[in-house]
Amino acid sequence: MKQHIDTIPVLDAYRSDCECPLCVLHKKHEEEFVDVFLGASVMEPDRRVEVNEKGFCRRHFKMMFDAGNRLGLALMTDTYMKRTIEKLSQSAKRAAQIGEEEGKKSLIARVGRKNGDIVTVADEVAAMADKCIFCEKLDNTMERYVFTLVYLYKKESDFRDALAKSKGFCLDHYAQVLKAAPEQLSGKDLQAFIDLVTRVEMENLERVEKDLEWFTLKFDYRNKDKPWGNSQDAVERSVNKMRGGAV
Ligand SMILES: [Zn+2]
Ligand SMILES: [Zn+2]
Repeated sequence: MKQHIDTIPVLDAYRSDCECPLCVLHKKHEEEFVDVFLGASVMEPDRRVEVNEKGFCRRHFKMMFDAGNRLGLALMTDTYMKRTIEKLSQSAKRAAQIGEEEGKKSLIARVGRKNGDIVTVADEVAAMADKCIFCEKLDNTMERYVFTLVYLYKKESDFRDALAKSKGFCLDHYAQVLKAAPEQLSGKDLQAFIDLVTRVEMENLERVEKDLEWFTLKFDYRNKDKPWGNSQDAVERSVNKMRGGAV
C-alpha cells in the first residue's frame, strides 16, 4: 500500500503531554472536517454525490448541527434525503409485496413461517443508515498517521526515544498500531517494535488505573486530607485510555 508520509503532525502530537497522541490527531482532524464538510464540500459536486450516497453517522450529524451552519447542513441533508427516498422506494415496494403475500397465507401456512425476506429488506435499510462519509475520511486519515508512526519508528532514533517515553495509546489505537506494524517491519525489528509499544502500553494503563483507584479512595473520609496527586482528572484520562477521545 502506497502511503502518504506526513511526519510533522505526528511529531507535534508526541510533543504534547497526552494519554494518546493518535487521539490528539483524531480530534484535530475531526474538528477540521466539520468545517470542510460544511464549507467547501457543500459546493463540490463530487463530494455531494458521495454525501448523497452515504450520509453521516449520528455523531457527525450532531457535530455539524452544533457547528451552527444550518444552511450548509440543510443543503447537503436535503439531497441526501432525496437520494435515500429514491433508494428506499425499491425496498418499500418489496416490503409491501412480502406483507401482501403473508396476509394471504392461511393460518396453517403461517405456522413455522420464515421471515427471511422481510429481514433481508430490513438489513438493506439498516445498511443505508450505517454509512458515514465523514467517518470514512477520518479513518483514512488516521490510517495514514498510524503508517507514519511506524515509519518514523523505523527511520528516526529520536522518535523511538519519544515513543519509549510516551504514555502509550488508547486501546483502539494500540490495536491499530500493532496491526499496521507488519506492513513495514519484520523479524527482529517487528519484535522490538511490538515489545516497546506493549511495554509502554501496559505500564501506562497501570499508571492510569492507579490514578483512578486513588480517585475513588479519596472519597473515603479517612483520605480526605491526603493529596490528590495525579488523580483529579483520572476519570477523563481513564475513559480516554479505554475508549479514545483526547482530553
Ligand atoms: Zn487513541
Ligand atoms: Zn461518522
